Amino acid sequence: MGSSERTPATHTAGGVAPAAKRLLILGGGPAGLAAGHFASKAGLDFQILEAAPRTGGNAVTFVENGLRFDSGAHRLHDRDPAMTQVVKELLGADLLECSIPSQIYHHGRFVDFPLSPLNLCRALGLRGSARAALKFLTARLTHRGDGDTFEHHAVRAYGSDIAGRFLLGYSEKLWGLPGSQLCPSISGKRLKGLNLRTFLLETFQGRRAKSEHLDGRFYYPRLGFGMIAESLAASCGAERVRVNARVTGLRHDGRRIEAVEVNGSEIIPAAQVICTLPLPVTAGLLASALPQSVVEDVASLRFRNVVLVGLFLRRASATQVGSIYFPDPDFPMTRVFEPRNRSAEMAPPGRTMLVAEIPCDPADAVWQQPEEELVSLVADKLRGCGWFHDDEVEGGCVKRLPAAYPVLAAGVQGRVRRVIDGLAVFENLTLLGRNGEFRYTHVHDMLRFGHDAIATLTRISPSG
Ligand SMILES: Cc1cc2nc3c(=O)[nH]c(=O)nc-3n(C[C@H](O)[C@H](O)[C@H](O)COP(=O)(O)OP(=O)(O)OC[C@H]3O[C@@H](n4cnc5c(N)ncnc54)[C@H](O)[C@@H]3O)c2cc1C
Repeated sequence: MGSSERTPATHTAGGVAPAAKRLLILGGGPAGLAAGHFASKAGLDFQILEAAPRTGGNAVTFVENGLRFDSGAHRLHDRDPAMTQVVKELLGADLLECSIPSQIYHHGRFVDFPLSPLNLCRALGLRGSARAALKFLTARLTHRGDGDTFEHHAVRAYGSDIAGRFLLGYSEKLWGLPGSQLCPSISGKRLKGLNLRTFLLETFQGRRAKSEHLDGRFYYPRLGFGMIAESLAASCGAERVRVNARVTGLRHDGRRIEAVEVNGSEIIPAAQVICTLPLPVTAGLLASALPQSVVEDVASLRFRNVVLVGLFLRRASATQVGSIYFPDPDFPMTRVFEPRNRSAEMAPPGRTMLVAEIPCDPADAVWQQPEEELVSLVADKLRGCGWFHDDEVEGGCVKRLPAAYPVLAAGVQGRVRRVIDGLAVFENLTLLGRNGEFRYTHVHDMLRFGHDAIATLTRISPSG
């Protein structure tokens, strides 16, 4: 049973090596690289197989026209101190501590993000605030229970006025579905500051309290977020990381993965497999072992892509904040960031860039839209923000990120659970990663997942 009948043999850049069974890590994004980092520390024999010409997945840094920018507005959240420490040890003095708040651009005005009562009052004015407060109280009385959609949760928590202005339209743009069809878990920590305690702190302690709850503190590598993946790859060792190695088949006996097929021809024998490929890809490669109902669940799992549009500017600085969020529907982007605000070394003196994130489905016209059109579109849309003059725009570039977000539609968790349970028949297969487990997770989570997966494997097989 399986996808290929060829004889096991391991091919490396230098030729054919002995077909030893080892731990194979599929995918060289942060999750695969984290697993490799901890496997290396544990002294395991392993190899990472990455389809792209470079490692780092959706957490890399690009360099265009002398300007550096990440694959999205990345920052390292200090949510798992042990994993932050791992990155500190890898990057040393190259890991910077940042404290930059973010903002929302709403109806032509800038509002602090996450929202707090005081700045909301400033943005909405007295009458607008009174209306929002009334909607908030009404929602408390009428929207009972937790609800099982994001819309229910958002309206109950913040009232229909604030939820409509800042959450529902934004989420629909980001995830491609109305709030009534999304899971409550997509809310993350948005609007976390909107409670009586932060209202009082902000009112009486001013900027000090504000900076503490604005989510503006994070770590950031000196030359871009991609340094984290690069340092993880370096810690694995060049001989352990193979790029241009697309996994095209998984050979199995219904109980164990015996070998991995690469680029449609090579067969590499496997002792253990850690798989970070998108869950539908993994399930597709193993579909023959799954019940038909699970195969149907897999077909319903969708991803959202992101088009990144960079504008090169001939000026020293454009904004002062971490990210600017765009909830209004007349802007195609959800977020804009200026890389040099995270680290001055992201741009040469006298120049900077703005990067817009435009989420889309693979079938949307924007995913294929030509680069020049996208650059003009973003320049036109951002003109009104007052960040640059027309004659300062030197040009731009576009990067397209496939499978940027697993779409957390309402009810999807049950289907994901069934797929993961279905794949649990393979006793030497571990699923890992944001798309690998179809979870809305971040790089500190990838480090934790990689760490825990290797800890489990070494418990199973202490000798490696
Ligand atoms: C716009 C945006 C902003 C973000 N901001 C943050 C942030 O601020 N902080 C944060 O911590 N995280 C952030 N993230 C999330 C972070 O990028 C992801 O959590 C992380 O990239 C997930 O790592 P992964 O290894 O699971 O998946 P990926 O990064 O998707 O890597 C998967 C890898 O598998 C490879 N692959 C796929 N198919 C195959 C195959 N058949 N064979 C071999 N290889 C294959 C891919 O080429 C890729 O390299 C952001 C993401 C996006 C898109």
